[in-house]
Formats: sequence, C-alpha cells, structure tokens
Amino acid sequence: MSVVRKWFGGGRGGDTLNVRALRSSGNIDGLSRVLHDAQDPQERRQAAMALKDLDDPAAVPSLIEASRDEDWEVRLAAVAALDAIGDNRAFDAFYDRLTSGPEEYPVFLASVIALGNLRDRTAVHALIQVLESSDVNARSAAAEALGKIGDGKAVTPLVHRLGDDDAFVRQLAVGALAAIQDPTVLPNLRPLLEDEDEKVRERTLQAVEKLTSVQTNDPSQPPLEPTTPPEKEEGTSPTFLRRETKGKNTYETYRAGSAEEARVFLHGQEVDKPFHYIQVETPDQGVWGLDKEGLYLVRLLDWQLNLGLAVCEGTIAAKPNLFGLQNVLHGGADNFLAQIRCGRCGKEWDDGIRYPDPTVVRCPACEAHNTVDAGRQIQLG
Ligand SMILES: [Zn+2]
Repeated sequence: MSVVRKWFGGGRGGDTLNVRALRSSGNIDGLSRVLHDAQDPQERRQAAMALKDLDDPAAVPSLIEASRDEDWEVRLAAVAALDAIGDNRAFDAFYDRLTSGPEEYPVFLASVIALGNLRDRTAVHALIQVLESSDVNARSAAAEALGKIGDGKAVTPLVHRLGDDDAFVRQLAVGALAAIQDPTVLPNLRPLLEDEDEKVRERTLQAVEKLTSVQTNDPSQPPLEPTTPPEKEEGTSPTFLRRETKGKNTYETYRAGSAEEARVFLHGQEVDKPFHYIQVETPDQGVWGLDKEGLYLVRLLDWQLNLGLAVCEGTIAAKPNLFGLQNVLHGGADNFLAQIRCGRCGKEWDDGIRYPDPTVVRCPACEAHNTVDAGRQIQLG
C-alpha cells in the first residue's frame, strides 16, 4: 500500500455534515446515494471514503459504478474502498482501470495494488505488462502484486526485474519470487546476495533460505521415466503442514504422496468461502488445490510439456468446464481441468491440461504417460 498511501493522507478539510451523519449512523444506502447523486465531486469522494471506513460488502455495487466517475479523485477513492472491502465482484473495476487506456496515475497504481490483493490469477498477464513499465512505481506495484498472486507464469518476468536499475524494484522482485516458491530461481537470486543495496541483500538472504528449504522438502526434479508408485496404505490421508493467512486469503496446506491421493482428499473437502484455499503438495505431481470454484492444479510441471514421454494417447472423456478453459484462453492459468480417459487402460480421472497444445498426463491406475491434445479434441464455438 505504500505506493498510494500519500494520496489518502487526508488534510482536505472535514466531510460535509451530510456525509458525516451518514457515516456515523453506518447508513450504506444513504452514502451510496450521495456517491451517485451529489453534484460536488468532493462530496462524492467523501462518501466513497466513508464507505471504505464502513467496510461493508453492501456498498460494492455503488462503488463499482463510482470507479467510472468522471472525476479521477472519486474514482481513486472508489478503487481504494473496493480494495479495502476486498470483494471479488470488484475485479473488473480494477482490471478495466489497467487496460482501458489512459488513466490518472494514482488510480492506475491503486488498481494494480488492488488486483494483487484480490489474488485472482486472471490478472497475471496484465500485471506482467505493467512490470515492464518505464515508471518505477508501476514496476514496484506490479512486482508486489504478482508475488501476492503467486502464479508461476510471473517467474520469468520477475527474474528479469532482478536486474532493474531501481533497488526498490529489485527488492520487491526478490520478495515476489520468494512468495511464488519456485526453487529453480535460486541461481538467479544468488548474485543479489552481493547487491550494492543493503535492503536487497537482506531480502535476498531471506528468499534464498526460504527457497532452499522448499527445495530440500520437495525434490522438484521430476523423473523422466515413470516411477513405481509409492506403496499406498489403505486410507492414507495427506499430512497437514500448515495453515496461514496472507491478507484476506487463508491457505491450509497438506502434503500427499501422489496427485491421485491429493484429488481424492480434495474431493472429500468443501470450501464455501471466498479467499479460502486448501492445497496439497505432491513430490512430483504438482500442487493441487480446492477453492470455492472447485478443484484446480496450480500449474503444469515441466515434464507435462515433454511429449516424447508419452506411450499412448488419452482422450477427453467429458465436456470440460468452460470457465476453466476460458481462464486459460485469457492467460489466467496455464491449465484447466478435464476428465481424461487413459489410452492404455481406460481409467478416467480429472487432470490439468493446457490449450491448444498437447499435454502429457500420467494415468493414476497404470502409470502410463498419455498425451492429450485439447486443441484437436475440443471444438470451440
Ligand atoms: Zn492407464
């Protein structure tokens, strides 16, 4: 939040009597009407800030409307209020401020930060573009937001920013890479242990320690040959690792021996709240998760792109969830979930695949590597 705090420092004089009264009585509808109807942009702005303080999701629709107000200070206050409330319905309001052409600079920055706080992977592609901006505050805000979202697609662009001329950007890029927890970036981080900036050196040391422990706990090099599956005890359930809250997101993390074990476990769980994620790490079959929208694979593994591994061709057994496919088409994820039928043994299971290129998936029953060609098997439109 540091980047935009200076625009909310107050010192603009008190609220109108009307706004003050509505704020103290917690009157959301009244403030929403002021936000919509007041002639004076300062009064509309005050109404938005009062709604921010009241932090009530009931104000979200009127704040979304105010994010398109003709006055940029009203738009800024509306974006800040929506960010504080943290409701997924505000996603488009933030995203449009990034992508719909020239926008007042503070509104633009506030929207970048708010997208990070929503932790919606759909924003990753747009934020990567901001990361290339010539403006140092924009690059910093985008690096921080990408770290919060934690999507692997941001790894390479963030590694490029490790060479940024600005020390603050380097520092945030290091922090973001540590948050994404991809130990393959360790060789890129190590030179920054000698960075000229002290904060960068400190942050890098923390990141290297964290990623080294991730690497030790998780032999991330996937086998190139199918491995014999670990002996499965009947009724084994994943081991609970930790529960953590990051901003408004709560993660419950487990470890399981295989993707199948992770999926079986997650199918038996229920998530009915937004911002709540149950994730299961596996040694070489990715991190599987469950949120309000259902099961997901966090990202594809390198071996899943190695078509030479496959011994047979799998088929997509059921019409896939179009929401997931659409998310892939918009760059929000690198895979979507589909029901696959093994080309060798006929087993059916859910797995993450990309589109439109073929993906390698491993049959949980016979361990055969299958290629699945989503581009050929799914006819869009
Ligand atoms: Zn099979």
